Amino acid sequence: MAIADGPGQRLPLLVVATTNPGKRAEFARLLASLPWKVADLSLAGDGYVPPPEDGETYADNARTKALAAARASGRVALADDSGLEVEALDGAPGVHSARYGGEGLDDGGRVRRLLEALSGVPASRRGAAFVAHLTVASPDGRVLAEVEVAVGGRIAFAPRGHGGFGYDPVFEPLGMGCTMAELAPAAKDLFSHRGRATQLLLPALRRLALDVRAASA
Ligand code: IMP
Repeated sequence: MAIADGPGQRLPLLVVATTNPGKRAEFARLLASLPWKVADLSLAGDGYVPPPEDGETYADNARTKALAAARASGRVALADDSGLEVEALDGAPGVHSARYGGEGLDDGGRVRRLLEALSGVPASRRGAAFVAHLTVASPDGRVLAEVEVAVGGRIAFAPRGHGGFGYDPVFEPLGMGCTMAELAPAAKDLFSHRGRATQLLLPALRRLALDVRAASA
């Protein structure tokens, strides 16, 4: 389970099981300090088709993605399932955030759809939370670690900022006075649902790297 990575150094490979370029960039930063070499889904093979995300919870989807990628690649895999829950919409789009408004929309289209749905809703009723569930799975079908984190905030009246991805231009984390898209990447990592969830997983990921290295020595 390890590959040569420079003279005298062997780092195990951790597959980050996502096709979302925004999440990939964030995980590359968030996992950079760990004794893993971060790999993408290409390790699962050319013919790999990610499983459908039709679970009822973030945990269902994150587990499905991590287990499928770990099995196909033969490596430990980390998957994230995340979404935006808006109080005035009874928690929607939630686990369906990636497909909110229909398959044809891009990030900008989904943001516009969300703002339309909240048209006329005052600041006091624009509360929301970003949720991320992270699962680490092994090639033999075990869930090795998982964590779920929610970060509170509210939905802005119009998009602001150009950083991040998805709903970042309209999500204002509590007390920040700016949207996620107005934060520098390192600041988003400190405050975001994915950043905080990854922080909580770091001890388990460090220990797993040692286990994998020991097993392959
Ligand atoms: P999934 O986890 O692949 O189901 O996708 C989650 C969807 O939620 C993404 O496509 C984004 O639209 C949204 N989302 C998740 N995390 C973030 C984030 O950090 N910023 C903005 N949007 C996010």
